[in-house]
Amino acid sequence: MDFFRYQNGELYAENVAVSKIAADYGTPLYIYSKATLLRHVEAFKQAFAGRNGLICYAVKANSNLAILQLLSKQNIGFDIVSGGELARVMAAGADPSKVIFSGVAKTEEEITMALEAGILCFNVESAMELDRINTVAGRLGKVAPISFRINPNVDAHTHPYISTGLKENKFGIPVETAFDEYLRAEKMEHVKIVGLDFHIGSQLTEISPYIDAIRALKKLIRQLYAAGIKLHHLDIGGGLGVTYSQEAPPLPNELINAAYEELADLFEDVGELQIVVEPGRSIVANAGIFVYKVEFTKDNLGKNFAIVDAGMNDNIRPSLYSAFMNIITVIENPESELKLYDVVGPVCETGDFQGKNRQLRIQQGDLLAMRGSGAYCASMGSQYNSRPKCVEVLVDDEQVHVIRERETYADLWAKEKLLAE
Ligand SMILES: *Cc1c(COP(=O)(O)O)cnc(C)c1O
Repeated sequence: MDFFRYQNGELYAENVAVSKIAADYGTPLYIYSKATLLRHVEAFKQAFAGRNGLICYAVKANSNLAILQLLSKQNIGFDIVSGGELARVMAAGADPSKVIFSGVAKTEEEITMALEAGILCFNVESAMELDRINTVAGRLGKVAPISFRINPNVDAHTHPYISTGLKENKFGIPVETAFDEYLRAEKMEHVKIVGLDFHIGSQLTEISPYIDAIRALKKLIRQLYAAGIKLHHLDIGGGLGVTYSQEAPPLPNELINAAYEELADLFEDVGELQIVVEPGRSIVANAGIFVYKVEFTKDNLGKNFAIVDAGMNDNIRPSLYSAFMNIITVIENPESELKLYDVVGPVCETGDFQGKNRQLRIQQGDLLAMRGSGAYCASMGSQYNSRPKCVEVLVDDEQVHVIRERETYADLWAKEKLLAE
């Protein structure tokens, strides 16, 4: 459910006409709905009602400071994957004791920074990383709270680029060697074992891969407890899918209920663990739309193109993952003929498209809106083809707040240096 709706043939973001926002701030632009964002957070909170859960929003999905600030005010935590993301969440007012640090290549500088901030947990993804964390913590005279990211070798049934829980993926440590790593960590002076985690992929539209993973890891948890290693939390990762087209992904409470059901026998034996989730997409994707303008239409011998002012630098998802994202007209245009279009951008790459074979009634100058654009769109933006990054606004009822200004041309080379003559 979101708050982007048509009223009298015109698309609104909450209570502001999208065409009005586009006129005021130009295109291309990202528009987020505050009410939608908060509603999605609430769905996760309700799923945990009366239970010991922690929601850690995955920052990489959308790392805009204002969004992080809004989420941090909801008292949720964050899942970060870099020092930059740690700096961002701190700048947005996050409580570091609710921050989890994932990622396969944590540097000494990043580990130092996280230890100094006092984060909740490092999700350790390799044996060497464990050694590095122990060394860095020792140097600082600290004890690092750690969890191992276990690769349960389950198929998440999603796009190969966003599947992370198979043994051929680079993520986590194999379930087969995890026990030995826990034993090794247990003996280290500067790490403290607090959890176990997995994250098997993104845009998951069924519960069964999560349950397969939990089932595989329950055995390991029992083995750990038998060896005297106790855990504070079990982190089941993010990955819950959203509706881009016809998908019908499970709701947060369906996922959480199923997880607790699968864990009931384990909790009976070892006591209840805190359950951590790391949702990104399911919180922000449908809280955002991407709006752009039709610059030209052209008919190349029967193939119709809608050439828009938005490129793969602004939204790379269609090019990178062959992602389907719904494209709709901002103001319905019943007079224009219904045609099949490839919606393409200005970037000089054949892979620069926003959508293929879309039935649209459009003409030059019309605005298009791409739904589900709150996650992995603006945060993946680049300046390729020297295109300044676009403006982002957040709508709150009748108010529009700019949360990232459109970059200027001078921003493009702000960090570059001319050679001395
Ligand atoms: C990307 C990522 C997430 C978030 O995934 P979504 O599909 O956006 O929910 C959570 N945890 C880790 C470790 C990730 O890399």
